[in-house]
Amino acid sequence: MSNNDIAGGEADAYAAFRSELEDFARTACPPEIRAVVAAGQKVTKREYLAWQKILHEKGWGAPSWPREYGGTGWDIQQRLIFEEVMAEADCPPLYHHGLGHIGPVIIRFGTPEQKARFLPRILDGSDWWCQGYSEPGSGSDLASLSTSARLDGTDYVINGQKIWTSHAHEANMIYVLVRTSKEAKKQDGISLILVPMDSQGITVRPIRTIDGWHHLNEVFFDEVRVPATHVLGEVGKGWTCAKYLLERERLPPANVARLELVRRQVTRVVEEAAKAAAGRRDFSSLRYRLLLAEADVKGARVILANATDDLKHQRPLGVQPSVIKLLCSDVAQRLTSIALDAVGPEAAHRFLADDGEGVPGATWVQNYMFTRARTIAGGTSEVQRNVVANELLGA
Ligand SMILES: Cc1cc2nc3c(=O)[nH]c(=O)nc-3n(C[C@H](O)[C@H](O)[C@H](O)COP(=O)(O)OP(=O)(O)OC[C@H]3O[C@@H](n4cnc5c(N)ncnc54)[C@H](O)[C@@H]3O)c2cc1C
Repeated sequence: MSNNDIAGGEADAYAAFRSELEDFARTACPPEIRAVVAAGQKVTKREYLAWQKILHEKGWGAPSWPREYGGTGWDIQQRLIFEEVMAEADCPPLYHHGLGHIGPVIIRFGTPEQKARFLPRILDGSDWWCQGYSEPGSGSDLASLSTSARLDGTDYVINGQKIWTSHAHEANMIYVLVRTSKEAKKQDGISLILVPMDSQGITVRPIRTIDGWHHLNEVFFDEVRVPATHVLGEVGKGWTCAKYLLERERLPPANVARLELVRRQVTRVVEEAAKAAAGRRDFSSLRYRLLLAEADVKGARVILANATDDLKHQRPLGVQPSVIKLLCSDVAQRLTSIALDAVGPEAAHRFLADDGEGVPGATWVQNYMFTRARTIAGGTSEVQRNVVANELLGA
């Protein structure tokens, strides 16, 4: 927020808003759900849905949506405060694929029928979405995708394969980028289609990751028929929708707010380990690394606050989303690396020897392994650095 806004009296209003949210977060989120988040454990669909239901009943189920579609109508500053307060109170994050990704794209590009059909089901948690963008060979270079959809009567018929599809095994809807025609420019001829996961011809195959959790999948489409009315936006102009979504994906206030939560958790892990070691180990270098990470978390918050102000005043964001993405991925990896060092090699050995999730400290072994993917998911760090270099150096 700029000094002018604060001078204009907005600061008091935002402080009152924050305090209302704090009261709500403390009382409304069930302690057993907060305990999962506080311990750094994986938030499952059950917890996501339970929390979404509570927020929806309060009218806060979609902080980033306009009021007319069941959202809060909050401004960007209020959304940032919401994310901070919820993370501070150990409440689960919102399930981003519906609320943060496809929901806003439906609001922007959907027909009145699509809005009426899909948006309320995202709000109340009836629909659980996943993202069918990446393909084997088409990740960073997404526009080279080859999954096809051909028009047959009033249906599109989809053939191809998606990969790295988070939550596909528990989703009932997928938004899929497909090629509906071959054009000279690879960004042209792509369409975005909304597909029920129970459509005949869809096969989901799990991808097991090193953290032992199951979040990723391959999704195969074999002559999958979807009504043409499920195309979102103009046929052949899906790249515009895809870009709209990706731009939002890279600037979620939640990422920075959750980073502060992880910093708090890791600090606790280090202090507990230091207590258990009772002077037999030196924790000064871990504490030093924590301080460096804390400084970077603060830096990320400053950049996010600037970007928030730019968004509010409709100024271009420049490289800020890429810088925030880079910083968040890097700090998340460093923090979980500190936690791993704190719980010690014994926890990692026992976890890898397949003693499973019951091993003390296993959560942090898993979190460490999971965060390796942070520099890949949602756009790799190398590609983000290219974006920054191109913008700043005109490369
Ligand atoms: C945990 C996780 C969850 C994911 N969830 C989803 C999901 O739900 N839905 C979905 O569609 N996708 C998902 N993805 C896929 C993700 O978007 C891709 O992995 C990512 O875009 C990178 O693509 P790729 O894996 O094909 O790697 P590639 O693009 O093949 O990259 C391989 C390597 O080459 C580098 N590289 C590529 N191009 C350049 C370049 N121009 N300059 C410099 N270096 C370059 C990359 O940085 C990387 O190191 C997920 C990935 C992960 C890890």
